[in-house]
Amino acid sequence: MSEQPKAGQLTLVAPRRGKPQRHLADLTMAERRAAVAELGEKPFRADQLSRHYFARLTETPEQMTDLPGGTRERLVAQLMPPLLTSVREITCDGGTTRKTLWKLFDGSLVESVLMRYPDRVTMCVSSQAGCGMNCPFCATGQAGLTRNMSTAEIVEQVVAGARALAAGQVPGGPGRITNVVFMGMGEPMANYKAVIGAVRRLVDPAPEGLGISARGVTVSTVGLVPAIEKLADEGLPVTLALSLHAPDDELRDTLVPINTRWKVSEVLGAAWRYAAKTKRRVSIEYALIKDINDQEWRADLLGRLLKGKLVHVNLIPLNPTPGSKWTASRPEDERAFVRRLESHGVAVTVRDTRGREIDGACGQLAAATPDS
Ligand code: SAH
Repeated sequence: MSEQPKAGQLTLVAPRRGKPQRHLADLTMAERRAAVAELGEKPFRADQLSRHYFARLTETPEQMTDLPGGTRERLVAQLMPPLLTSVREITCDGGTTRKTLWKLFDGSLVESVLMRYPDRVTMCVSSQAGCGMNCPFCATGQAGLTRNMSTAEIVEQVVAGARALAAGQVPGGPGRITNVVFMGMGEPMANYKAVIGAVRRLVDPAPEGLGISARGVTVSTVGLVPAIEKLADEGLPVTLALSLHAPDDELRDTLVPINTRWKVSEVLGAAWRYAAKTKRRVSIEYALIKDINDQEWRADLLGRLLKGKLVHVNLIPLNPTPGSKWTASRPEDERAFVRRLESHGVAVTVRDTRGREIDGACGQLAAATPDS
């Protein structure tokens, strides 16, 4: 495990660790064909495997009756190794919110959360085991960064949710994942290559990928400016969420330590360039913390910064985390904050706190083992 970071300490480069086994979901279609050929099989087997994995959500070789017996076992062992082992599952909201704790091949622990709403199903996924960004109000950052996840380890979280939905294991009847948010453990822009690979697998049409609409995918970041610029050039119209949490550098330096590298004006500049290039509305995440960042003057300052931009503010009542002295804002302060922003013509919503009672809400994912 990683060591607990000191206040404000950033870890931008993940520790080097053993890599998980290669998986179909790490590869493009061309790479899958090449991999299958290397194993002495006809390249079209890659298409069959892909159809099983991404379209039919097949789990075991026995179900792959269109592949000859021996081939099946071998290809599955080589290209569809199990990467995630479910350690624990907790549900709330009558089973429509479920948090899963996963163990990775090296014992690292990560969590993902499935949330079913009347009109959509959102999967919240982790992109790193731990996190190096060290935001003091977020449980994940407190244990530091263990390692980056691979593309397939990220995709597998979504596939697991898709399987549970397809099998009717989530109340509401069989369903599909419509949205994926990179708001679980980790800083997705600090694991850029694997995250982009995962986004491509999510949005590529079946059987190359899962065929989820790019508009339904949200990448959330503390604001790694060079990575935001790169993302804007990928030609992937995903939603960018920027975890701002303060409109002024003085406070943001302490709440989101990466601000000591890239200031509010720089990160907002990158966000506006992202919006201009992708034509997508940027989402500004702002956790309302009582008497810390919820003053009306800060709402006013935020409103002035965002006025007239292609933007939407998501206010998140602070979720409690172990050892933190901070709590959510008073309801009247929250209302005043909303009104101030609206007076600048800025679109704003207050996010629901789904999953709070199972420590599955924003900033609560810490992947403690069941007996800790
Ligand atoms: N590292 C990325 C993604 C993970 S966090 C990022 O920071 O954007 C997803 C969202 O939850 C972020 O906006 C984060 O700031 C917010 N968050 C973290 N801890 C929280 C808490 N205790 N209460 C409410 N929101 C929190």
